[in-house]
Amino acid sequence: SKTAYVRTKPHLNIGTMGHVDHGKTTLTAAITKVLAERGTGTFVPFDRIDRAPEEAQRGITINIAHVEYETDTRHYAHVDMPGHADYVKNMVTGAAQLDGAILVVSAVDGIMPQTAEHVLLARQVGVDHVVVALNKADAGDEELTDLVELEVRDLLTAHGYGGDAAPVVRVSGLRALEGDPRWTASIEALLDAVDTYVPMPERYVDAPFLLPVENVLTITGRGTVVTGAVERGTVRVGDRVGVLGGSGDDVETVVTGLETFGKAMESAQAGDNVALLLRGVPRDAVRRGHVVAAPGSTRPSRRFTAQVYVLSAREGGRSTPVSTGYRPQFYIRTADVVGDIDLGEAAVARPGDTVTMTVELGRDVPLEPGLGFAIREGGRTVGAGTVTAVA
Ligand code: GDP
Ligand code: MG
Repeated sequence: SKTAYVRTKPHLNIGTMGHVDHGKTTLTAAITKVLAERGTGTFVPFDRIDRAPEEAQRGITINIAHVEYETDTRHYAHVDMPGHADYVKNMVTGAAQLDGAILVVSAVDGIMPQTAEHVLLARQVGVDHVVVALNKADAGDEELTDLVELEVRDLLTAHGYGGDAAPVVRVSGLRALEGDPRWTASIEALLDAVDTYVPMPERYVDAPFLLPVENVLTITGRGTVVTGAVERGTVRVGDRVGVLGGSGDDVETVVTGLETFGKAMESAQAGDNVALLLRGVPRDAVRRGHVVAAPGSTRPSRRFTAQVYVLSAREGGRSTPVSTGYRPQFYIRTADVVGDIDLGEAAVARPGDTVTMTVELGRDVPLEPGLGFAIREGGRTVGAGTVTAVA
């Protein structure tokens, strides 16, 4: 039988973000190596992180790698993603559910376009704390690195993060992976900064259970398993749950097994990354974008009003206005669904505007006031919004 998961330390979700090739995956591997040597983690080599399982969803491939480790005070689930598009998809849909982020910036190259885009994305999805890893410090000239540090602090401040207060730690993921003592210490300093600077988030453990489905798998002889991060509430083995968001009838079932990182657990709570085994649910009755929730606690619908910020061209958005009748994709939790917008009397919204709109989705999705979402078109984010009322 499986080892049981013992909850001894508070759990947080973090992740590396930053421009391609600045060393996110190398740093992730280095963190696991340093903590494995301390005896509170398992070393996950670069190749195992960079070849994350892929899932094809209607032509989009979503890539995300999860590793887990512990510091002296906390248990972390850490995500690393290979490409810029993966960050956009996973962050805006909430699949990454980051309580804090490690922004990786190469001390040799400085801020690059994806560095700025990830800071913007983090702000949009409500990541309140960013710790900076000035990576490749082994290869960077000291004066240049000082300049990069100033530049990063300014970038954070420009996006509403306290750039002066944010920890900026000079590290070398590569040298730490090679076992160099000086750079191993730099990784420990980075982890200490994360431990102290990223506060414990307020978890909605007492709310009705809800898990946005990220992935669905079939385990031969056991049934259908869904995976994802618990958004709120608590779930135990034996609990009744509803599977919602399909085009057909919603399914009610019982949770017959719970696991986190391959370890069995009795109960899971908000913030945990889990796999739920569902009794008697056919493989095709559930998919990414559905939610598993306490029965009767939420209901799918397709019409809502929202407050939406239309990204400017400088932020990677459109250079032309949008008008009533525009049909982009809506990324709501892990769902990706087409929707028609109606701007009412205004009729037009320019890049940079914040507007109220009514949206009619192509299918029912569980919605509630306060829920955040992203609007995408042709592979880029053009808007970010919050549901204000559900029709
Ligand atoms: P990612 O795209 O951000 O995940 O970057 P990778 O981790 O794949 O690293 C990109 C390249 O930078 C690789 O060739 C790494 O070996 C190199 N690299 C990563 N970290 C460091 C570092 O700390 N120092 C130096 N000199 N090179 C590094
Ligand atoms: Mg990588």
